[in-house]
Amino acid sequence: MKTTTVPSTSAPVAHNAMPPPPAASTARSSRVAPHSHIKGLGLTPEGLALPDGAGFVGQTNAREACGVVVELVKSRKFSGRALLLVGAPGTGKTALALAVSHELGVKVPFCPMVGSEVYSTEVKKTEVLAEAFRRAIGLRIKETKEVYEGEVTELTPAEAENPLSGYGKTVSHVIVGLKTVKGTKQLRLDPTIYEAMLKEKIVVGDVIYIEANTGAVKRVGRSDAYASSYDLESETYVPLPKGDVHKRKELVQDVTLGDLDAANARPQGGQDIMSVMGSLIKSGRTEVTEKLRKEVNKVVKGYVDQGVAEVVPGVVFIDEVHMLDIECFTYLNALLESPMAPTVILATNRGNAIVRGTTDVVSPHGVPVDLLDRCLIVKTDTYNREQIAKVVQLRANVEGLKLGPGVLERLAEEGERGSMRYAIQLLTPASILSGLAGRNQIEVDDIGEMNELFLDAKASARNIGSDGGFDGGRM
Ligand code: ATP
Repeated sequence: MKTTTVPSTSAPVAHNAMPPPPAASTARSSRVAPHSHIKGLGLTPEGLALPDGAGFVGQTNAREACGVVVELVKSRKFSGRALLLVGAPGTGKTALALAVSHELGVKVPFCPMVGSEVYSTEVKKTEVLAEAFRRAIGLRIKETKEVYEGEVTELTPAEAENPLSGYGKTVSHVIVGLKTVKGTKQLRLDPTIYEAMLKEKIVVGDVIYIEANTGAVKRVGRSDAYASSYDLESETYVPLPKGDVHKRKELVQDVTLGDLDAANARPQGGQDIMSVMGSLIKSGRTEVTEKLRKEVNKVVKGYVDQGVAEVVPGVVFIDEVHMLDIECFTYLNALLESPMAPTVILATNRGNAIVRGTTDVVSPHGVPVDLLDRCLIVKTDTYNREQIAKVVQLRANVEGLKLGPGVLERLAEEGERGSMRYAIQLLTPASILSGLAGRNQIEVDDIGEMNELFLDAKASARNIGSDGGFDGGRM
C-alpha cells in the first residue's frame, strides 16, 4: 500500500470548516427536556388560542398575550421591554417562554436561567446575566463549500459497483472538493463515505484515509495542493478538471455569541472557533472579558456585513426573578437597552416582596418599579383536573409510557391535590416500578405505591410543626 506524503503547507490554506458549537450545558438542556411536548403557542392565524394546540393545554389568555408579544418582537416593537409571567409554580411559565422562542423561528436560541444562579463565589452576578444574554443571541453562519457532484468517468463496471475495489485495506487520498481520485481516475463517492466525510468535517484540501472495508474516514493532514489531486501512481499532483463537476453548496451552522465568547476565551486548540474567526484573539485567555466580547462583536459585525452570517436574536428566560438583587436589576435595565438584546422573559410566583439588596423597598413581585414599568405582565392560571389529565397524557406519550386503566384519572387527582408537576413527576418512578414487576404499562397500584414513598409539597408541609421542625420528631 502506498502512503501519501503530506507536503508542508506553504501557501495559506483557507480552512472553512465550521467547528461544532460547544455543547449546550447539561443544566440548560435538562431544563428544557420536561417541555419537549411544547411545540409552540398553539394559536390560530388570528392569534386566538386553540383549546389544545402545539402541545399546550388551556392557559388561553396567557398564550394569546404571548402571541401578541411574539408579534411585537417580530415587528421590532419590543426592544427595551420585557415580558413578566406571574403565576403559581407549575402553571406553565417556562413552557410559555419556550413556546415564544419556538414561535420566533426555527433554531432560535432559548436560554433559561433561575434568578438564584447569579449568586456564585466565582463569577460576578452581573457576569452571569451578561453571559445568559450572550447565549440567547444566535449567529447563523452560512458557509459555501465546493461539493463534487459530477458524473463518474472511466470506471470499470466492477469499480462502479464498489468504488474502492482495487485498493488495499487502507487507502489514502487527497480530497479536493470532496472528490477522491485514484491516479487520474475520478471515483464516485459512496454515500456512506460521503456521510463519514461530512461527519468528520472533511473539507477541501484535507488529506484523508479511507478504510476500504468499513468506509471509515480519518483526517491525516492538510495539503497545499488546493484544486489538484494526488496521483498515487506517479506521486504527483494532477490539476483537476474544473467546470460544472464542482457545485457550490450552502451549509448553515448555528452558534450563539456566548459560544463564540467561550471558544475565544479558551487557550488556542486545533479545531475551536479560533479557526473560524481568524486571528481574532491572541492565545492564552482564560476568561470572557468585556473587551473580548467587543472584539467578538466586531468580527461578527464584519461577517454580517459581508453577508456570511446573520444574527438571530433569541429568548433569555429568568425564572424566579424575585431572587435577583437591586444590583442585578439595575444591570438588567442596562442590558435591555443594549442594541443586540434578546427577547427577555421574566417569571415569578411572588406577590409583594422586599427587593433583594434593599432593606425596606417593597415592590410587586420583588421587582423594582423602574423595571416593572418596562414589563408587560401576564398571569398564568392554575389547572383543573381535566387539564392536568391532558398534560399528564402528553408527557406519557413523549416519554413512551403506557398507562393502564384509571391511571390518568388517579394522576389528575394527585395533580389537583398536590400540583401538576408532582403528578407528572410520578410518571417516571411509577414506570420503573411497573418495569420491575415485569409489566409494560403503569397500573394504579404503582401510583399508590409511589404516593406512599414520596410526598407532594403540601403533604410534606403538613408534617412540619409551627416551630419549623418535624412534629415532635414523629415521622
Ligand atoms: P415554576 O414556577 O415552578 O418554575 P412553571 O410555571 O415554569 O413552574 P412549567 O415548568 O412550565 O411551570 O410547567 C411544569 C410542567 O408542566 C412542564 O413539564 C410543562 O411543560 C408542563 N405544562 C405546564 N403547563 C402546561 C400546559 N398548559 N400545557 C401543556 N403542558 C404544560
